[in-house]
Amino acid sequence: MRKILLLVGVGLSALTVCSQKTYIWCGTLIDGISSEPKKNMTIVVEQNKIVAVENGFSKPGAADKTIDLKTKTVTPGWMDMHVHMEGETNPNAYLERFTLNPTDIAFNSIPIAERTLMAGFTTVRDLGGSGVNISLRNAINKGQVKGPRIFTAGKSIGTTGGHADPTNGYRKDLMGDPGPDVGVINSEEDGRKAVRQRYKDGSDLIKITATGGVLSLAKSGQNPQFTEDEIKTIVETAKDYGFTVAAHAHGAEGMKRAIRAGVNSIEHGTLMDDETIELFKKHGTWYVPTITAGESVADSAKKEGYYPPVVAAKAKLIGAQIKFTFAKAHKAGVRIAFGTDAGVFKHGQNWREFGYMIAAGMPAMQAIKAATINAAELLGMKDQLGSIEVGKLADIVAVDGDPLTDPKVFGKISFVMKDGIIYKQQGSGF
Ligand SMILES: [Zn+2]
Repeated sequence: MRKILLLVGVGLSALTVCSQKTYIWCGTLIDGISSEPKKNMTIVVEQNKIVAVENGFSKPGAADKTIDLKTKTVTPGWMDMHVHMEGETNPNAYLERFTLNPTDIAFNSIPIAERTLMAGFTTVRDLGGSGVNISLRNAINKGQVKGPRIFTAGKSIGTTGGHADPTNGYRKDLMGDPGPDVGVINSEEDGRKAVRQRYKDGSDLIKITATGGVLSLAKSGQNPQFTEDEIKTIVETAKDYGFTVAAHAHGAEGMKRAIRAGVNSIEHGTLMDDETIELFKKHGTWYVPTITAGESVADSAKKEGYYPPVVAAKAKLIGAQIKFTFAKAHKAGVRIAFGTDAGVFKHGQNWREFGYMIAAGMPAMQAIKAATINAAELLGMKDQLGSIEVGKLADIVAVDGDPLTDPKVFGKISFVMKDGIIYKQQGSGF
């Protein structure tokens, strides 16, 4: 008899937990879909999902919870499609390649993850690290670390001496001859192996470095570094494993090869010409601009000794160009998803990208869509993320003020909910 009562008790309390809903009263709601904000709305969340979006401030039931955001602007959680969670810029970054163990990197990434989430970014795409980013994702998913949903590429794939060769700039006896296991390939066969290794490692997507880059210890920031056939093989193999492919590219030739080979997004896209823009449109390739990174590296390059000379020269040339490229691509109608390259600058400052996008001519509402519904589409998660709609996961943020008229408001996050859990609520002691 006692046993039966106990079972009934457990059943009832489970039922109570299930039916408790959270009513979020929104003064202004930007839902990620509509072209205009809506006034005085209520979002109803049950467990980790949005179960209703109602006009007016709906009255909760006795067992329900209310969150009053009547003076705030509420949007879907923001999504940054280009970050590096394993570290961030500092004058010792090049030395740290020789001094940090993976465990050090892991501990360093914990506050980075938390800072990113608290800045309103509930989802990020980590486009390359040592592989610790895979463990970080797992720890966040298990609830051991506070951070955004991470979709990670693990270790990027490059070619010998290319932007993602981890031994670039080392002295000869330390260089060795790294291969596909650490993401260095030199043939189609290597490319297949590198993709399969990423699958085995637990990556969510593939990142390739289709051209030279700014921060690697190598001369060119823009030369093509893969053959088109190598990229084609990587894209084909990636499809077998359900991976999308993101391609870092500054130079036009490498960008064209990557787009023609079928990658899903081009990162930075700095020196795209008119022909490249046409290719973007023809193939429906996403452009992830990372203007903040461009501005930051150009700034840091002005500080004496911040970067090695070979890097400083590239940073000045390429960094300053991205905002102009973005303006041109936006005007031409290229599909744009929000991405910053956080790590190249301090994490938690990702919101600055909104201001740069708006200053370069994109309407604020469109910039918000780039960071919500567009990003969700690029991730292949549009059915679950990117808008405030019934059935979607409850990733919801709020800011103090009107982000449509003042871009600084993006830096004033007062509420963060991810997967139905509140991580930040101003005035509530969070
Ligand atoms: Zn990057």
